[in-house]
This record gives sequence, C-alpha cells and structure tokens, in this order.
Amino acid sequence: MRQKIIAGNWKMNLTLEEAIRLAADIKSEASSYRHQVILCPAFPYLLALQNELKGTNIKLAGQNCADRENGAFTGEVSASMLASMSVPYVLIGHSERRIYYHESHEVLKEKMDLSLRYGLLPIFCCGETKDIRIDEKQDAFVEKQLEESLFHLSEDDITKVIIAYEPVWAIGTGLNASPQQAQDMHHFIRQKISARYGVGIAEKIIILYGGSVKPDNARELFSQQDVDGGLVGGASLKADDFKKIIQAV
Ligand code: PEP
Repeated sequence: MRQKIIAGNWKMNLTLEEAIRLAADIKSEASSYRHQVILCPAFPYLLALQNELKGTNIKLAGQNCADRENGAFTGEVSASMLASMSVPYVLIGHSERRIYYHESHEVLKEKMDLSLRYGLLPIFCCGETKDIRIDEKQDAFVEKQLEESLFHLSEDDITKVIIAYEPVWAIGTGLNASPQQAQDMHHFIRQKISARYGVGIAEKIIILYGGSVKPDNARELFSQQDVDGGLVGGASLKADDFKKIIQAV
C-alpha cells in the first residue's frame, strides 16, 4: 500500500500571522488525519510553522529551491538551507515556476539532484497546458518532462521522489481534470516509471493529483487506483475546505 499524501501549496499568500493561524486551525484536527499532511508555506514562515506544528505529524515543504549549491545568487534559497532547517520536502517544477520563471527541464534536473543530495524529498510537478490537451499530446508532453528531469536518477533516488500530476489548465481555474482523466495520466506515468525502473519501483512511487481539488471533488479524484492523494492550491488556504479534503482521502 502506498502512503497517501495531501499537500497544501500556499504559494505567495498570507501574512505571517495568518499563516500561523491557518496552521493552528489545520493542526487542531491533526490527531484524526490518517494520511501524511504537508504544508508548503512561503520560505520566511517555515521556522515559525515548524514551531507551531511541533508534536504533530504535519510536515513542511519548501515551494522551490535553487539550481545552484550556494554562493552569489541573491534571493535564492538552496536545498542545503532547507535541509539545515530540517524541512523534509520541497516542491520542484511547479507550473508557475516553469511558466513565470522559465525553469527548463535542465534546471529542474539540477534541482532534483541537489534536493536529493541534501536529503530532501522532492515533490516533482508535471502536467500539460490546455493547448497540448486539446491536441491530445498530453502523454508525450508529460513523458518528456519525466525523461528530461527525472529518469536520470538512480533506483535508490527515484524511490524518494513524489510526483504531482498537475494539468496546467486545471490549476487555479476551478476546472479540475475528471477522475478518469486523472487516473489515465497517473496510470500512464506509472507505466513509464515501470518501463524505466521496473514494476516494483513503479508501484511504490506516490503520484498526487493537483488542479482545482475542492471538498466536493476530492473523494472521487482520490478514489482512483493510481491517485495517491493531492497537491492543493486555493482550497488549502481555507482551513475548513482543506480539512474536508484531507478527510476525503
Ligand atoms: C497548485 O498550485 O498546485 C494547485 C493545484 O492549485 P489549485 O488547487 O488552486 O488549482
């Protein structure tokens, strides 16, 4: 049985005070969570939230890390910095990073290597744009994202990676993939991992769905065979919605 994960990506939202309040609200029901809950706040809030979440099983993730180890890269946060703060997870290749900051396959490959080198567990995001879905080229598109940034990893390293399938057309649009569309892509991704690393490893890899997950669609999306939980944006900013989504897994 693969572990189920629900991760909340808060993006560039909330003041420090609001972030602590939201974490406290999510924490208030932590003893009833049967799955791994991960919060992805902005970098400056990580330590305060670590303190707030002490004694619970809720974990933290950075929303990004640099593609360089250290040095004169003003404004960047390295994988080793996150590791030194005992932050266990990091998002890599979110579509907003790919689109607004032009992160290439090559840059993301570096980020994967660095995060693994420093003992972080990367959540690698992939997914096609609307045009690619309309042209029915989504499988080849996602396959290339996996091949270029992930499939150089050793067997040992790939088993530490969590994949988040996030169709770009579903992110923040209110338009989620149908449960069947999600299942088809997750199955495709698992098949590709199997072809590269073998079925034993493919069956172990956790694949999350992301894109307009809400309390009213979460149960059906998460009940698909190859969907191991979700990466949630907008709905993770509302404690009640996020808690309902956690309970839907
Ligand atoms: C995301 O940004 O990872 C995401 C899935 O956003 P939303 O849930 O708002 O679509």
